[in-house]
Amino acid sequence: MSQQAYDAGRDADEDVLLRVDDLQTAFFTDKETIRAVDGVTFDIRRGESVGVVGESGSGKSVTARSIMGLVESPGRIVGGSIEYKGEDLVGKSDDEWRQYRGGEIAMVFQDPLSSLNPVYTVGNQIKESLRLHQGLRGRDATRAAVELLEDVGIPDAKRRLKEYPHQFSGGMRQRAVIAVALACDPDLLICDEPTTALDVTIQAQILELLEELKVEHDIGIMFITHDMGVIAEITDRVNVMYAGEMIESAPVEELFENPKHPYTRGLLESIPSRNERGAELSTIEGDVPTPNEPATYCRFAPRCPKAFDDCEQVHPVQVDVDESTDDHQAACLLYPEDVSQNEAVELHRSREDRTGSEVSE
Ligand code: ADP
Ligand code: MG
Repeated sequence: MSQQAYDAGRDADEDVLLRVDDLQTAFFTDKETIRAVDGVTFDIRRGESVGVVGESGSGKSVTARSIMGLVESPGRIVGGSIEYKGEDLVGKSDDEWRQYRGGEIAMVFQDPLSSLNPVYTVGNQIKESLRLHQGLRGRDATRAAVELLEDVGIPDAKRRLKEYPHQFSGGMRQRAVIAVALACDPDLLICDEPTTALDVTIQAQILELLEELKVEHDIGIMFITHDMGVIAEITDRVNVMYAGEMIESAPVEELFENPKHPYTRGLLESIPSRNERGAELSTIEGDVPTPNEPATYCRFAPRCPKAFDDCEQVHPVQVDVDESTDDHQAACLLYPEDVSQNEAVELHRSREDRTGSEVSE
């Protein structure tokens, strides 16, 4: 397919809620420029749950905060676009961006205590969201709040509305946070490691809940985790991130059955057993490098069992892994796998020349 035909195909898809294209977000510190998000591209459709997975430090949270318009100084979006319902959010003022937060795009963080206010009852916090985003007050708001708590599986909802966050257990608190987010009636829910702090049983319940909510409310979900096991349970499509870049993208079954990038293979080999969930991945030797210079080479090469000389000279871009698919991409010089090694390297080199861009302050 030509690039033009491909773009036209993408544009025609009305179910696309979010289209992130070549997003770049950098932190300009005194010491260095950290390219935390360095050319990230992916879509999320209505009713679809899209995973972003990678080790700690790979740029997952900065991607999420970029979409929310919440990148903190000295960070800034320096390139690319974030189209939400066809409207580019990059370049919007803080005020304009605020109108999307909550009502259109809501976020659930890893630590539920940081998103709940300890001095207000859970009920008041849900009702405040209902008032702000849905205009509900008084008895209507109370009724809707009870329904929401029931929706997220909190028993005895009427009584629990009057309780404070510290009276909730960890799992119940995360449910309450999800209820507050849903009270905004968002179309896109971004979950940043929402189950990492929870034990395995509770974690499974929250994942099941999110799956139900996705179907019932027909929302898109962006689900961030470092845990491949969790990704398997919740997502329809997976994007693997490494040092600021998306290095593999595929439907979830395809990714698990047929992983292509050596990094993804490493991640899959290091899935912790069920009772160790939440433990950091450790079987790939070495750490994620800080992306503090332009990617003119493969950032995974130093840790890669398959690396060869070109990996240090040529920056891999996302390509279809072979000719039979347009739904599975990897950014690795080993692909496409149905052409010779030299041809593959040349393909990456020529694409990179076209797309390579400079980040400047
Ligand atoms: P992940 O969520 O995948 O663990 P992050 O998105 O939090 O990773 O971080 C990606 C990179 O951005 C890291 O190298 C981190 O050090 C850097 N980073 C994040 N926030 C800041 C900040 N406020 N200032 C400077 N660097 C930051
Ligand atoms: Mg994070």
